[in-house]
Amino acid sequence: MSIFKIGLTGGIGSGKSRVADMLAEWGASVVDTDEIARALTAAGGSAMPAIEQAFGAEALAEDGSLDRAWMRERAFADVSVRQRLEAVLHPLIGDETERQADAARGCYLVFVVPLLVESLPRWRPCVDRICVVDCDPATQIARVQSRSGLTEPAIRRIMAAQAARASRLAVADDVVANDGDTTPEQLRARTKTLHERWLALAAARP
Ligand code: ADP
Repeated sequence: MSIFKIGLTGGIGSGKSRVADMLAEWGASVVDTDEIARALTAAGGSAMPAIEQAFGAEALAEDGSLDRAWMRERAFADVSVRQRLEAVLHPLIGDETERQADAARGCYLVFVVPLLVESLPRWRPCVDRICVVDCDPATQIARVQSRSGLTEPAIRRIMAAQAARASRLAVADDVVANDGDTTPEQLRARTKTLHERWLALAAARP
């Protein structure tokens, strides 16, 4: 029988990684597509030769990893740059995601996909449930600022390129509310409730 699958998404800073860490702690297998993308574009990552070929040595930092600031500037300014980058990365991310999913042996499988709603036709058939970690935009900005040191305009630009809160919620089967006034204990309790629901759904499958 194939493993029960959850697609976990949410805007930048919503709390996806934190939720995914708890699910992993309770026995779920987690495949994080952002982490896969980071590994592919780290120094020595398997996407780097193709990136150098597509964009030139300028796209590489001194250590041979992707120069993220350089790429972010260009990808936001020019759609064709973003498309070229995606043409290199998406097939590699897809292969590695599939490899990790095939190896998953947890009580269910969680795909962490920041842009799941933006690529809904690709993801909807691959998962049994879509879970959105929901959070107000002001909290997203505050969290990302304290986590990364990105400026507020840079964060707003990233948010503007992501799906709107309402369109995420519109496709959610499950929602974890994680607004600014949510304590870590509340987040844990809400996540636990969903974990138990998913365990029951996984067990009840034919
Ligand atoms: P995402 O993966 O969606 O970008 P993260 O899980 O990394 O978001 O959360 C962003 C930051 O906010 C992290 O530093 C995280 O620990 C913190 N955070 C998220 N939710 C809460 C919460 N309810 N209470 C306190 N800090 C939180």
